[in-house]
Parts: sequence; structure tokens; C-alpha cells
Amino acid sequence: MAYSSLVNYVSNKKTNNFNYPRNHVIDRITIHHAANGSGCNRGYAANTLQAIFDSVGRNGSCNYAIDSNGNIGLMLEEQYRSWCTNSQSNDYRAITIECANDGGDPDWHVSDKALASIIKLCADICKRNNIKELRYTGDLTGNLTLHKWFAATGCPGPYLISKMTYIASEVNKLIKSSSTPAATPSSGTNTKPAADKIYRVRKSWTDAKSQIGAYKTLANAKKVCKEGYKVFDSSGNVVYEPAAAFQPYLIKVVCEALNIRKGAGTGYAVVSTIAKNGVYTIVAEKKVAGQMWGKLKSGAGWICVEPQFVKKV
Ligand SMILES: [Zn+2]
Repeated sequence: MAYSSLVNYVSNKKTNNFNYPRNHVIDRITIHHAANGSGCNRGYAANTLQAIFDSVGRNGSCNYAIDSNGNIGLMLEEQYRSWCTNSQSNDYRAITIECANDGGDPDWHVSDKALASIIKLCADICKRNNIKELRYTGDLTGNLTLHKWFAATGCPGPYLISKMTYIASEVNKLIKSSSTPAATPSSGTNTKPAADKIYRVRKSWTDAKSQIGAYKTLANAKKVCKEGYKVFDSSGNVVYEPAAAFQPYLIKVVCEALNIRKGAGTGYAVVSTIAKNGVYTIVAEKKVAGQMWGKLKSGAGWICVEPQFVKKV
């Protein structure tokens, strides 16, 4: 039940041409050219997302489409196998993307905006589906594949083919950085995702008055989000919360003997024991399995700082 949060349009035409569930994990992406603004190899004039979906909806299907303005549309959520590439062996494992052309035969050019959206969308798909690297090798040893390898078609056309190595390298840069959203909205096929993605910085979602900023990119929202504030997505979900500055504190051991462990949690080895009434400084906290652990200032290790063992002094 997943699709990219970059989607800003959902097809109003359904297709019956899909399979569910997939019989393979998603580990490929196939970028198609929509040719005259329609599904590949079919002649429609308008370069709009719905024209693409209307076209591919007749005999084919796709997961996503991108228009020449860079808008990203959704036809089939990612859990569905599209029939876009005329190949079971490819489509059961691939996310398929139809991209509008802004030029015709012989190059089938696509706009720079569309190209930029291809890169963003592919990076997002890779991140959410745990594809560590997008590789265009010119054959099936890579995971960025071409329609023409599976069917009698020129798709995706010379221009896009010439860009595949570039697309893969730009996608990999984004995978390694955190500049694309990692959020995975999920819902039914026809549920419309939020059209505008705005990250709001507030004390709480319901406290709209506390808002100190609203940003299109999460990175910018994070920059201004200070202690006591959180970053919310358009649906009110907390997507970022700065760690509160930790204030060291003193504790006194109230049990007979308290284990010092190598790390926070009983899974770590005991390195020593401290006796009742000992007073120590805690310089960090970590909650593990429902219990709070404190790091000793001495560096000796971690102790459980639940009230049955220690008392703050
Ligand atoms: Zn194609």
C-alpha cells in the first residue's frame, strides 16, 4: 500500500491491467517515454498526466507518469504489477514510469523539468523499497531497464536512453543524501494524496498559533525547529523533533547492589557493581525495553535509573 509522497495527481481512470500481489520484490525501475504525451507507442496529443493515463489505461498500465512540467501522477500503487513493459519477468519486479515527451521523432526529447522529476521519483522509489543503488549497465545486469529490451518498440527513445547513466548517477547521489522525503503515505488506490506538501514547525499540531514557519522542504523546516517544537507534515504527523538538550543529574543508589553494564540494557555485559548509597552523575539517558538507562559520568558504563534502583538527589 505505497506510493511516493512526490505524487501530486492521481489518475481518475482505472485500469484492469495489473497483477496483485507481485511475485517478486521491487528491485527495478523502468522509465518509458509516453510519445506525444500518451502511453508509449500510442498517439495522443496532449502532454497532460491524465492524457497519459487515459492512453495507457486502454491496453496497458503504469505505476507513475510524469508530464513536461514535472508533475508526478499515480495510476497504480507500487504494490501492483503494471503491464507497462509487456514483460512479466520485468514488470513483476519493476516500478514503471511513463514520461511525457516535449519533442517527437526521432529523439523523443523530454523536458528538463520532467527529467528532474524522474530523478527525484526514482530516488524516492529506491529509498522506500530499499534499493541501495540504481545501476544502468545497458543490459539486464543493471536494475534500470528499458522497454525495448522486452518488446518490439523504440521506447524510451534515444534522448532518454542517452540520459540513463546520468539519471542513475543523480539518483544515487540522492539516495546517499537525505534530500528526498522518506515518508511513505499509503492508502487505497484512489485516495488522493495531499496536493501540497508543507512542513510546519509548531509546538503541537493543534496549536496552530505556535507555528514559527512552514516550508516546502523538510531540511529547511528542521533548520528552524528548536527545542520544544516539532516538524509536522501536511497530515499532522510528526516527522522531526529535535533532541532536548540533556542536563546531567545526580543519583543515589537505593538498592543493595546495582549492575554497571557496558551499554544501555540488560543485553550488555555487567562490568562492575555499585553499592547502596553511592552517588553518581548521569550524563546521558536511553530508554531500552521500557526502562530508562543512565550513562555514568566516569565512563564506567550504564546503569538502570528506574526508581526501584536509584533516587535523584
Ligand atoms: Zn514503453
